Amino acid sequence: MKLVFASNNAHKLEEVRKILAPLEVLCLRDIGFVGEIDETGTTLEANSLLKAQAIWNWLQEQGLATTISGVFADDTGLEIAALGGAPGVYSARWAGEPSNDARNRQKALCELAGVQDRSARFRTVITWINQHTVQQVDGVINGRMATEESGNGGFGYDALFIPDGYDATFAVLPAETKNTISHRARALHALRELLLN
Ligand code: IMP
Repeated sequence: MKLVFASNNAHKLEEVRKILAPLEVLCLRDIGFVGEIDETGTTLEANSLLKAQAIWNWLQEQGLATTISGVFADDTGLEIAALGGAPGVYSARWAGEPSNDARNRQKALCELAGVQDRSARFRTVITWINQHTVQQVDGVINGRMATEESGNGGFGYDALFIPDGYDATFAVLPAETKNTISHRARALHALRELLLN
């Protein structure tokens, strides 16, 4: 069963391939897609659908859709309670264009300076699409925002996010731990269930 994941993000691909093994996961580079997909949606559901649909349409145009089982795309947001759920769907470009993880983390620290309630969550929505169906699953991990960055692992907001039940950020915790409990892991397990049933 060959699946296409609508991303070239190396960190995500590693997580995705581990969780969905032995299913074969191709990335955008593997299928020769070099275009840009504008994430113009205002919800994680809309953006994830937009990406999956764009790649599914492209595969059909190229006559490649019959060679794969389907396409999936994810969209993730960091939702900080004290900021009313921001940055949410705007997490990637929160500190402006072009998207920059270090500047996004700095902005989070600035916005939360002196704030007591640091609770936050990551949410991932995955859209699965093929000739028969369009389905969405999601995954959530609750936690809190640290008062300073720590750790070199992971990417994005990992150096600031401490999952519930732990005292270290995702960037400090072993990748295996993150891959077991993360928002994306939970959404991917839901996708796995969907595909195997
Ligand atoms: P995307 O929708 O997956 O592209 O992610 C949106 C934003 O959330 C980007 O700034 C990512 O760096 C960040 N992000 C996504 N997944 C994670 C994660 O697992 N840990 C930390 N940050 C993440």
